[in-house]
Amino acid sequence: MTLDLKNPSLMREAALVGSRWIDADAATGVAVTNPATGDVLGYVPNLGEPETLEAISAAKTAQTAWAARTAKDRGQVLRRWYDLMMENQDDLARILTAEQGKPLAEAAGEIAYGASFIEWFAEEARRAYGDITPGHAPDKRILSVKQPIGVVAAITPWNFPNAMITRKAGPAFAAGCSMVLKPAGQTPFSAIALAILAEKAGIPAGLFSVVTGSAQAIGKAMTQSPIVQKLTFTGSTGVGALLYAQCAPTIKKLGLELGGNAPFIVFDDADLDAAVDGAVIAKFRNNGQTCVCANRIYVQAGVYDTFAEKLAAKVAALPTGNGFDSGIVFGPLIDAAAVAKVSEHVADACAKGAHIVLGGKAHELGGTFYEPTVLTGVTADMAVATEETFGPVAPLFKFQTEAEVVAAANDTEFGLASYFYSRDHARVWRVSEALDYGMVGVNTGLISTAEAPFGGIKQSGLGREGSRHGLDDYLEIKYICMGGI
Ligand code: ADP
Repeated sequence: MTLDLKNPSLMREAALVGSRWIDADAATGVAVTNPATGDVLGYVPNLGEPETLEAISAAKTAQTAWAARTAKDRGQVLRRWYDLMMENQDDLARILTAEQGKPLAEAAGEIAYGASFIEWFAEEARRAYGDITPGHAPDKRILSVKQPIGVVAAITPWNFPNAMITRKAGPAFAAGCSMVLKPAGQTPFSAIALAILAEKAGIPAGLFSVVTGSAQAIGKAMTQSPIVQKLTFTGSTGVGALLYAQCAPTIKKLGLELGGNAPFIVFDDADLDAAVDGAVIAKFRNNGQTCVCANRIYVQAGVYDTFAEKLAAKVAALPTGNGFDSGIVFGPLIDAAAVAKVSEHVADACAKGAHIVLGGKAHELGGTFYEPTVLTGVTADMAVATEETFGPVAPLFKFQTEAEVVAAANDTEFGLASYFYSRDHARVWRVSEALDYGMVGVNTGLISTAEAPFGGIKQSGLGREGSRHGLDDYLEIKYICMGGI
C-alpha cells in the first residue's frame, strides 16, 4: 500500500464487526484494486453470515443505549464525526480516488458533500417533532411521538463510496438507530476510514459495523434477520428488487435508491451556453457513473446542431487520465464490465444510425478508460434510450414540440432525476409538473444537496434521503391515547 496519507491509520485492511476489528490477510481476503492502474491496493476480510449476525446482535444492544441519549447529545457526536471528516478531507479523498478512480478534486468534493449529511442530520436530530391532536372524546388526548426504527442494515454502491454511506448513517444515528453496513466490494476502504473516524468521534462500540465480503451471504443474513427493522439500499434496480423480495417475510421498512434514466431537455428558448454547461455536469460528472446522470439528452430541433457542436467542443477540451494527476476531469470507469456496457450501447446506437461527434471508443490509455462521447441522430429504438448507460456517453435526441418531449421523457419505468432548460416561466411550471420524476432540475445540472429530498418514483425506489424527510425515514410514529382525563 503506497498511498501517501497524513494519517495512515485511516487506510486499514480490516472490517469492524460490533466492537471487534477483524484484520484481512492476502491469502483469504478480498483484493481491492485501483481502477486507474489495476494495482492491488490492499485486502479486506471475506466475511459472511456469522459476522453479519454478530454485528446485528451488537447493533441491537448499542441501539437501546444510543436511543436513550438526548437528541442534542447524539447530534454532538455526529458533529464531531463531521469535523473529523473535514479535518481528514485530503486523506479520505486520496483513499477514495485510489479505489474508485474519480479525480482527486472531485473526490475531495465528495468528502465535503458526504460530510454535509452528517452535519445536516447532527442539526436535524433535535427536530424529530411529534404532535398533539384534539381528542375524540372529552376524557382523551391524542399524542404522536417519533421513535427510532431500531437496527438498520445498509448496502451501498461504489460510485459514491463516502456520500452514499453518510446520507444513510447520518439520519439513522440522528434518529437513534444503529447500522450494519455492507459497502461495495470495489470501494470498502472509504467505508472503513469512515468507521475509524466514527469511533474517534464517540460513536459507541457496536452502533456502526462495516462488514466486508460476500454480498449474497451478508445481504441474506441482513434481510432474514428479525432484529433488522429496516434495510436501506442504493444500487441497481435488479438487486433492489431482489432485496425487496428477501425483506418481505419479515416486513422490513425499506429505503431504496435505485437506477434512473434521466432525461435532460433543452428547449429552443433556453440559454444555450448555460444548457451546455449543465449538460456537462449532469452527464459527465463521475464519468457518467451516477444514478442521476443525464441519460437521454433531448434537444429541440431549432438549436440541435448548435448544441451538439458546443457540447462536443466543451467536452473535447476536458482531459482524461489517472485521477491523481493534476487537471484530470475524467478518470477510468470502475471496471471492465462498465466498459463493456458503454461499448455495447455505443455500438448498438451506431448500428441503428447514430453518428459519433466525439469519442466513441476505448481510450488509448487502455485499462478501463473510455473516451468521453457525444452521439447525434439518436432515436428511441436504441439501447441508450431505455437502459442506464452509466458511462461517459451523451446521446442527443431531436424533438419538435413540448408535448412530444414530455411524453418521450416519461416513457420509462424509471423516475429518479430529470432536467430541463427553458426561459419561459409558464413552460417551466408546466414541464416541472408534467415530468414523472422524484426530482426535477430546472436550468441546472446539479441538484443533490443535504438540504433537499433525494429520491425516485416508479422503479427508481422508495423513500427520500437528505432534508427533514430523510430523518423521518428512520423514525416510526407512535400514537399514544391518553385516557381517563
Ligand atoms: P452496481 O451495478 O452499481 O454495482 P449493484 O446493485 O450490483 O450495483 O451493487 C450495489 C451494492 O449491492 C453493492 O454493495 C453490491 O455488493 C451489493 N449487492 C449486489 N448483489 C447483491 C445481493 N444479491 N445481495 C445483497 N447485496 C448485493
